[in-house]
Amino acid sequence: MTRILHRAIHSRMPVAVGGKGIELFDAGGNAYIDASGGAAVSCLGHAHPAVLAALHEQLDRLAYAHTGFFTSEAAEGLADLLIEDAPAGLGHVYLVSGGSEAVEAALKMARQYFVEKGEPQRRHIIARRQSYHGNTLGALAAGGNEWRRAQFKPLLIETHHIDPCYAYHLQEPGESDEAYAERAARQLEDKILELGADEVIAFVAETVVGATAGAVPPVADYLKRIRAICDRYGVLLILDEVMCGMGRTGTLHACEQDGVAPDLMTIAKGLGGGYQPVGAVLLSEKIYNAFAGGSGFFQHGHTYMGHPMAAAAGLAVQQVIRRENLLANVVAMGAELERQLTERLGNHHHVGDIRGRGLFRGVELVADRASKRPFDPKLKLNALIKKEAMARGLMVYPMGGTIDGRLGDHVLLAPPFIVDRADIGRIVERLGDAIDAATRALSNA
Ligand code: PMP
Repeated sequence: MTRILHRAIHSRMPVAVGGKGIELFDAGGNAYIDASGGAAVSCLGHAHPAVLAALHEQLDRLAYAHTGFFTSEAAEGLADLLIEDAPAGLGHVYLVSGGSEAVEAALKMARQYFVEKGEPQRRHIIARRQSYHGNTLGALAAGGNEWRRAQFKPLLIETHHIDPCYAYHLQEPGESDEAYAERAARQLEDKILELGADEVIAFVAETVVGATAGAVPPVADYLKRIRAICDRYGVLLILDEVMCGMGRTGTLHACEQDGVAPDLMTIAKGLGGGYQPVGAVLLSEKIYNAFAGGSGFFQHGHTYMGHPMAAAAGLAVQQVIRRENLLANVVAMGAELERQLTERLGNHHHVGDIRGRGLFRGVELVADRASKRPFDPKLKLNALIKKEAMARGLMVYPMGGTIDGRLGDHVLLAPPFIVDRADIGRIVERLGDAIDAATRALSNA
């Protein structure tokens, strides 16, 4: 009997009792390769000795000091390191406990920025359909995933949504990347003009889409066009890199590959690698200066923000990534993962698309490759793949969803940055077998 309200009340989950490197172990003695890092969290794998040592040391010195009274060495150290390598213009850090908190803070920061600037009429947030930015009410309102929003709609602030940049489904046959980028970005401009340019606060998007669609990068120049449109109308650009950031795509920040810097950026999962709950908002000097030269106060805060243990975890994880030059491994092993996935699944009847960047890869399943028709969501193919994968000692992150009936089931791969070629081989073999078994079971049903 469990006393915990688990995510799925009736599912019986194994009890995790340990982890080492890329593997997790359950109480029944089974080992699982953590090929999704949970949900793109465990970027260093489990029980990294340098992170454990840093946490023990921090705990011995100071576990907690309220940020209304003190800052801490760990929090200052983490902020310094984050700003050293931040995209151009981002000069300050707001530390929180996770991704949803980071998105909430970024939305409120964006709103208060315009209040400080004497533009209190700005009130609209624009985001994208079929997106996920967290489960607290503000973040949920920004997200455009209808299934997640449906029953909470009466409680959500009003937000506005445009289409995501999703080439596999939304690029027209024969349409060039350039034309598609222009068409997809123009939706933002149209929406800003429809709402009134001086009433829009911000546009929010993931640089590379994670949890709703499975590692979908934008086409070339899409984000550059988005940046230019935001600048044209004085709208802030918030890039949500909670999942795709902190090295996951092969550069520290995914937006580096698009040649774009946001006004506000949210980071979390890989920031602390799961060793502690930690997230952050990186904000531009422009926003910081509006606060500093205005009320001198950001009207927000949480009891555990800037927690020394969380900051120490973030600092240790980020130092290891630099010291062990792990981004080079993300690039090399990301290419290897793509190569092996394509070799094993590229011709599979039910694999429509294999995509992503670095060690952030998605495999989209379709009932029919030619029409890209998804499986009936009632069949819950993604859950079946998860079950078959777990039975083979593999964790992959399963997802299902729809954009107007188009997007179907997919799995997300986000293995730790320390994987080698042999690890990738085992991951792809087990995933291939799990997809074979799950799609065969549905075909025979
Ligand atoms: N934004 C994105 C892009 C995410 O993927 C997630 C988590 N999946 C969140 C926000 C919310 O983060 P958390 O679960 O830590 O609150």
